[in-house]
Amino acid sequence: MAILKIARMGHPTLRQRAAEVADPAAPGIAALVADMIDTMADADGLGLAAPQVHVDQRVVIFHAPRDDEEAGEEQEWTGLTVLVNPAVEPLGEEQEDGWEGCLSVPGLRGLVPRYTQVRYSGVTPGGERVERVAEGLHARVVQHECDHLDGILFPQRMTDLSRLIFESEFRHLRTAAPSLRGAA
Ligand code: ZN
Repeated sequence: MAILKIARMGHPTLRQRAAEVADPAAPGIAALVADMIDTMADADGLGLAAPQVHVDQRVVIFHAPRDDEEAGEEQEWTGLTVLVNPAVEPLGEEQEDGWEGCLSVPGLRGLVPRYTQVRYSGVTPGGERVERVAEGLHARVVQHECDHLDGILFPQRMTDLSRLIFESEFRHLRTAAPSLRGAA
């Protein structure tokens, strides 16, 4: 296991469509996932996609937040999800704005519209099929990570670049809008 170098905005690997994984059960994928988990923990991130560590494969890992409006800002986070060759589709047209950060866009935050509810699927390195419906922050994390596999960073999803701000300014802004408190 190892901590990998994280690609930053501007690196070509972040702009390309990542390749499908031919064999999700291959030992190389398990080793990649182990390194991605170490890297995400070291960077204190909420999610990580393989292109962010210079690997051209469709693999993402993320912590899925529990969708519980009562919990508000103090909501708990569920365990780690690992997905190979994930797919995500919106359920309905509704979108909502929320603040995002990204380990590949250090020091910045942006207000990003995302589909409120999505269905996502994929397989684990162990071969288990995953299919879930997610909404709110959970849906936001999934859309952010899967975008990395298509070469898209969160600023490209923004509709108002006046809401692309420095992390230090973000700390002064506590809006009621859903937000990713960590970077992904
Ligand atoms: Zn990201």
